[in-house]
Amino acid sequence: MSTVAPVIKRPAKRSQGRPAPELIFGDLWQFDPAPETADPKLKARYELFINGKFVAPSSGKYFDSINPANEQKLTEIAHGNAADVDAAYAAAKKAFDHTWGKLPGKERAKYLYRIARLLQDRAREFAVAETLDGGKPIKESRDFDVPMAAAHFFYHAGWADKLDYVAPGRKVAPLGVVGQVIPWNFPLLMLAWKLAPALAMGNTVVIKPAETTSVTALKLAEIFQDAGLPPGVVNIVTGFGDTGAAIMGHATAAKVAFTGSTEVGKIIMRSLAGTDKKMTMELGGKAANIVFDDAPIDQAVEGIVNGIFFNQGHVCCAGSRLLVQETVADEVLAKLKNRIRTLRVGDPIDKNTDIGAINSKEQLHTIEKLVAAGVKEGATMYQPPCKLPTKGFYFRPTLFSDVSMSSRVAREEIFGPVLSILTFRTLDEAIEKANNTAYGLSAGVWTDKGSRILKMSTELKAGVVWANTYNKFDPTSPFGGYKESGFGREGGRQGLLDYCKLV
Ligand code: ADP
Repeated sequence: MSTVAPVIKRPAKRSQGRPAPELIFGDLWQFDPAPETADPKLKARYELFINGKFVAPSSGKYFDSINPANEQKLTEIAHGNAADVDAAYAAAKKAFDHTWGKLPGKERAKYLYRIARLLQDRAREFAVAETLDGGKPIKESRDFDVPMAAAHFFYHAGWADKLDYVAPGRKVAPLGVVGQVIPWNFPLLMLAWKLAPALAMGNTVVIKPAETTSVTALKLAEIFQDAGLPPGVVNIVTGFGDTGAAIMGHATAAKVAFTGSTEVGKIIMRSLAGTDKKMTMELGGKAANIVFDDAPIDQAVEGIVNGIFFNQGHVCCAGSRLLVQETVADEVLAKLKNRIRTLRVGDPIDKNTDIGAINSKEQLHTIEKLVAAGVKEGATMYQPPCKLPTKGFYFRPTLFSDVSMSSRVAREEIFGPVLSILTFRTLDEAIEKANNTAYGLSAGVWTDKGSRILKMSTELKAGVVWANTYNKFDPTSPFGGYKESGFGREGGRQGLLDYCKLV
């Protein structure tokens, strides 16, 4: 590591008497490469997982899954079609009618507990596989995605024999077979979010991971086999939108659960209108992270960075709009610039990397297009001068200041490491601007006053409001949206209610 010390320049302008020193880091922060070395134990080809077995797709077709960090082929994945989806539903129905649906909750709990333990045993291997397949930094998949996925199975194992307490005074019963489709931003964790409550309640499942991130779902199927999960309880049919549409529209599905874009969510809702299927949708977001002038600014800056830059901004609840009170706006912007200059963008398998690879070339183009629109619409852009790898899909952390409410970068979900900064003067203005969006998944509030936190969390139309923190998750907390961010909740007692009927 170099020993060059940072030079501290005093800025000409100060806000509220607080200095906003500008740090120039030189090469102080260059670390030697520290790649995670655990073996991800990948197969050259992954089949469908139906009725407890890995089976070839009836079309005989496979597609490549590439590593977005270097664009090299990682493995190939089966392209399931409507016939495969039929077979998966038939297996799931049989399991619901004859095995899983008949098991007492305390027996189901043992399987869920076993799955959680086996996942913990293989945590490093799964973290490396997740990072190679999806591009997220290893420290994210190792410290967040995999442990949190295991936590969801543990938590729901705890519920499986206590279902009489899910709706006090009422009895609950499973719905039957559930169809689920998930996106690429939290491949394993989203799978756990969907599977654990459905299985705890006694349902069986047909699920499709996203086409760019199917690997950890199929590795989890190996764990299902090792745990002795009865055949047909979980069926995984990989593929693209056509496969997803076949899962969502299948006559056997008593309920469908979707996480993905608002656009596709609307297509699914339109196609299922008039059916008696239960539905939950977790869709897009454009969260406001709101900083008042009495906030602990350094902590807030850390929370803002955590909210949008870690995980490449590939988070539907990312704090992609910063609303900052005018009196501290200059200070916050200066500190944010300093902080993002120290973020390491690069190989996601390196333990020092903060911002890994964008999940796909298509997603990189979407980010580039929206950022170009922000510049064209007159916002001021700042990007640190970090070097990007020559191969793979990468994007610099980007700040937009002087953003107007009507700007595309303030309204549209970018799903990348791009923060749009707007200012406000009063609490009412902050609430109005925060709620002035088609979405309502999450929000953050940074202030010293508890009363203000309570007021904001009442007024903000967002499913989750974090106070003096951001992106904190727990299996006990329900998560879900308002408005075009969807409906239904995942996690906690409320999440279980979406997988049962009251009898
Ligand atoms: P994102 O923009 O996050 O990729 P998408 O909504 O495009 O979100 O994709 C989320 C998931 O939905 C993926 O698994 C994808 O294959 C699937 N999908 C895409 N189109 C459809 C569709 N028409 N019906 C069902 N699933 C779909």
